[in-house]
Amino acid sequence: MRVGCVKEIKNNEYRVGLTPDNVVSYVNAGHEVYIEKDAGIGSGFTTDEYVKAGAVILDSAKEVWDRSEMMVKVKEPLKEEYQYFHEGLILYTYLHLAADRPLTDALLASKVKGVAYETLIERNGSLPLLAPMSQIAGRLSIQEGAKYLEKPFGGSGVLLSGVPGTPKANVVILGGGNVGTNACKIAVGMGANVTITDISLNRLAYLDDIFGSRIQTLYSTDAAIANAVANADLVIGSVLIPGKAAPKIMKREYLKNMRPGSVIVDVAVDQGGCCETTKVTYHDDPTFVVDGVVHYCVGNMPGAVPRTSTIALTNATLKYGLEIAGKGLETACKENNVVYSAINTYNGFSTCKNVSLSFNME
Ligand code: NAD
Repeated sequence: MRVGCVKEIKNNEYRVGLTPDNVVSYVNAGHEVYIEKDAGIGSGFTTDEYVKAGAVILDSAKEVWDRSEMMVKVKEPLKEEYQYFHEGLILYTYLHLAADRPLTDALLASKVKGVAYETLIERNGSLPLLAPMSQIAGRLSIQEGAKYLEKPFGGSGVLLSGVPGTPKANVVILGGGNVGTNACKIAVGMGANVTITDISLNRLAYLDDIFGSRIQTLYSTDAAIANAVANADLVIGSVLIPGKAAPKIMKREYLKNMRPGSVIVDVAVDQGGCCETTKVTYHDDPTFVVDGVVHYCVGNMPGAVPRTSTIALTNATLKYGLEIAGKGLETACKENNVVYSAINTYNGFSTCKNVSLSFNME
């Protein structure tokens, strides 16, 4: 199959759909790979590396789209890219169609086969193409929190680990799923006192098993959260109720009990955030202060570390990409329900139930 990868054009998006190592895998499997010049430069992958890996480099995005039977990307295509859609093209990327009627209509009108990373579901119910970004956001949340606790960044001037003879910082993690567990790992590793809350007792038992006496687990109630955050230097918001807005479990009234310069990193901001005071921020101006507490609420945290994010994402996408390219989309779907779960548009039809429901499509 002819497989393509273009440079992402979304503002501040530096990830890329294929690494040079991925190209080697596709070429060794007998595919031709076309890469737009400088497609990987934001993630630190040079054109020379792609050439060595066996890719053909093309000067413009248009040439790559035109030649490709399968396009591997990161973000959903923007309006400027709709002109390149052609019938039968397999588009393998994050699509988020339920929030994007114009893109849905463009994919249906041009009969593109849209394969969405975010709807690919494994047999155990996990979302393997979303998980790596939660891992990154969780780990990064502590790194960012530590930075904004520093005085020059507006923080209270607390070092997470402390040093012998000083108190360690108190880190409270609201939600012990994928993001929360990864935040916990880094906070424990940096030597902080860590408390983690969840409404799932099974999840708390799991966390207790893996972190043992190094953390405090708490069943998540209003009272438990109010008590825990009153002494917190750093609060991480990482709750999720799938398909719903995040519950506002971090109330504004709790802020006045926190020390000025304490920090909240609300990772759940992409679902509206779990703090009453959250509003979306961006990498170029990531923080704001409410009642003396520094808030960091960036909706695409992995964008801050595009090299790691690209490698983590493509580690997860490569397997299914090779399966689709090797067998063709139709055979891959017939043989593997997991691939089938990712099809959002096919031959002019919307094939994802949630997308159809959100637009009242039949
Ligand atoms: P997850 O489903 O793995 O974990 C969510 C956890 O929250 C679950 O364990 C659940 O039991 C718990 N929970 C639900 N309600 C709760 C409550 N009231 N109190 C305490 N815990 C509660 O989800 P995840 O992968 O960890 O993602 C968490 C959030 O982070 C999601 O909104 C996700 O979209 C977001 N996220 C944001 C970024 C970013 O860049 N900002 C990146 C990745 C993920």
